[in-house]
Amino acid sequence: MRTLWVIMLVVLQASAFEYGLKPSKVSEDIYCFFGKPEVMDKHNNGNMVNSCYVDMGSSWLVIDTGPTYLYAKEASQHMRSIKEMPVKYVINTHIHDDHWLGNGYYASLGAKIVGPSLFTAEIDLKAETRMQKRILKEAFLDTVPTLPQAMVEEEMVLHLAKGDVFLYLAQERAHTESDLFVTIPSMDVLFGGDLIFNDRIPSLRDGDINGWLSVLDMLKAMKSKIVIGGHGDKSDTHAFDLTYDYLFELRQEVKAAIDDGIGIDEAVETIKMPAYAETHLYLMMHRQNIEVAYRMLEWDDE
Ligand SMILES: [Zn+2]
Repeated sequence: MRTLWVIMLVVLQASAFEYGLKPSKVSEDIYCFFGKPEVMDKHNNGNMVNSCYVDMGSSWLVIDTGPTYLYAKEASQHMRSIKEMPVKYVINTHIHDDHWLGNGYYASLGAKIVGPSLFTAEIDLKAETRMQKRILKEAFLDTVPTLPQAMVEEEMVLHLAKGDVFLYLAQERAHTESDLFVTIPSMDVLFGGDLIFNDRIPSLRDGDINGWLSVLDMLKAMKSKIVIGGHGDKSDTHAFDLTYDYLFELRQEVKAAIDDGIGIDEAVETIKMPAYAETHLYLMMHRQNIEVAYRMLEWDDE
């Protein structure tokens, strides 16, 4: 019996952690690893976020690198079996750690990593990340928080074989203080990062409800045929719907409560928005979103 345990232990140690990732083909040139509609935990190990690959002709462009080194490595192995070419550029849409902790792997391949400004100001590389605290040690193995080498202050253009890639910094606080979105006009695609959630209740914690809605108005007006967010696997123009409609209704409800003299605690208890009760993470996110929106909107009329 003891021998059996020893053998099992050796086998476990020898086999590296695997996510079991599978790329989804979104269009001729675009593949995404779509994450689960969950928060990071010891079951999904951070596979709750999107990471996308774009065939730019002679290199892959990666949009968001996922939660860990091993995730990035596994994703990249899949993509190299589809087309053997290097990853030249990597884009981080924002500073939340599920979107960029895979950077270290791509940096080791020599890729150039680009992210929004404020990255350096807001990230303490020595601090333990949320991801590290919440997932299995073996999944986090070899993950070294690695910052982008280039920051986008307003906009940037990458000239690549299959077309120009435009990176824009949202000009208002929206999902976070510093959100990048990416368009590739030759492919009619928009990558919105976490400005777009379409499988779970969005998180307003670090954002601004007015700024977010106004940035979404601008993104919708671009009329891209393919729209890909940071969470969720919808990739047509309906990709916007959940985030936009939810935030729009939330703002309306919270404003009405403030106008009626309803206090923040009561607003948190009474604004139910039942149409979203079945949406993933409603119980975890909705009350917090009401609170954040309320604190922001109560200053609006003054
Ligand atoms: Zn985020």
